[in-house]
Amino acid sequence: MAARKAPEITHDADLSDLSTFRLPARAAELARIESPAQLAELPAPATPELIIGGGSNTLFVADFPGRIVLNRMRGVRMKAAGRDVLVTAAAGENWHALVRRCLDEGLYGIENLIMIPGSVGAAPMQNIGAYGVELADVLESLLALDRHSGEMVTLSREECRFDYRDSRFKSADRGRFIICEVTLRLSRHFLPRADYSSLAAELEHRGTDAPDPRQLAAAVMRLRRHRLPDPARLANAGSFFKNPVVDGNTAAALLAEHPALPCWHLPDGRRKLAAAWMIESLGWKGRSLGRVGVYPHHALVLVNHGGATGAELLELVSAITGSVERRFGLTLEPEPLLVGSSAPSGFTRS
Ligand SMILES: Cc1cc2nc3c(=O)[nH]c(=O)nc-3n(C[C@H](O)[C@H](O)[C@H](O)COP(=O)(O)OP(=O)(O)OC[C@H]3O[C@@H](n4cnc5c(N)ncnc54)[C@H](O)[C@@H]3O)c2cc1C
Repeated sequence: MAARKAPEITHDADLSDLSTFRLPARAAELARIESPAQLAELPAPATPELIIGGGSNTLFVADFPGRIVLNRMRGVRMKAAGRDVLVTAAAGENWHALVRRCLDEGLYGIENLIMIPGSVGAAPMQNIGAYGVELADVLESLLALDRHSGEMVTLSREECRFDYRDSRFKSADRGRFIICEVTLRLSRHFLPRADYSSLAAELEHRGTDAPDPRQLAAAVMRLRRHRLPDPARLANAGSFFKNPVVDGNTAAALLAEHPALPCWHLPDGRRKLAAAWMIESLGWKGRSLGRVGVYPHHALVLVNHGGATGAELLELVSAITGSVERRFGLTLEPEPLLVGSSAPSGFTRS
């Protein structure tokens, strides 16, 4: 019997290539994990401890004093469940590759989420979403290591407490669970979800009013290529700010003052407001401060033009959030995790 491979551990590790925003930072310890068994073999958790996958939603604005667990668990299996198929993917699988594979297998439900960078295991964290679909629509359950009890637990969709770009993993239980596997319930019957305005317009422009799965996925990819920078060419972390969610009265007051502000009604009665519109209306789109800036094609995306530091990024973030606060009275929150910062989503556990 082959000896089980021990987790690979590096001390004083360079983190700059492990985050798509590529800020310079180091971790006291980096542990590369290929299986749940290796995870269990790690010496007692160093504090702080943080697991990452593709690093496309994590920015290291300062050195990390504890252990970064780099998740590289692999494997996908599929099981028929009546008219559906349950697809179980290890947390270190690449999300985009999984979407492509499911399309090839004739399994539908996640085609609108094609080309979202990162790992399967991070997808539940902020309930990834795009073009009218979110992970919560298809997630059946997930398997995670509960750092509190040391046990493997299975959590249902309801137990994940998903919300707009949020879940219990990102809020109340941040740092508690290490997600090892995610199970999706996909369908063999394709039901296009094409009512999201920019997607509908793209399909109409191509004369495709009843898209097949590949046409729908291709339309999403065209939109994404046009609007978002490829992190391999221009370092970024996708949308940097969350769209603020407010109550009806707050939205009505803002719309009276700013009638063009895009506003979406959420099923629970709250309103989601377009942060990109606010940032653009304040003249930030395309502007840079030092080596960081706002992407010219999308006001929600901040980019690292090369060699930027965490301090430079925080200065830009504070300038943008300050001007939005002064004009609209709203506090924008970063969508990615800012490791080493005291910003609202910053991770400062010690
Ligand atoms: C160009 C670009 C476009 C993007 N477009 C979208 C989009 O359309 N929609 C969208 O929702 N997001 C989008 N994102 C954000 C990002 O792709 C997603 O949030 C993705 O799920 C992050 O995966 P990751 O593996 O890179 O996460 P990481 O950055 O490695 O981790 C993100 C968070 O998840 C935690 N985490 C990671 N793995 C695990 C695990 N196994 N168990 C527990 N916690 C874990 C980390 O601790 C961290 O808090 C985009 C990013 C970029 C760069």
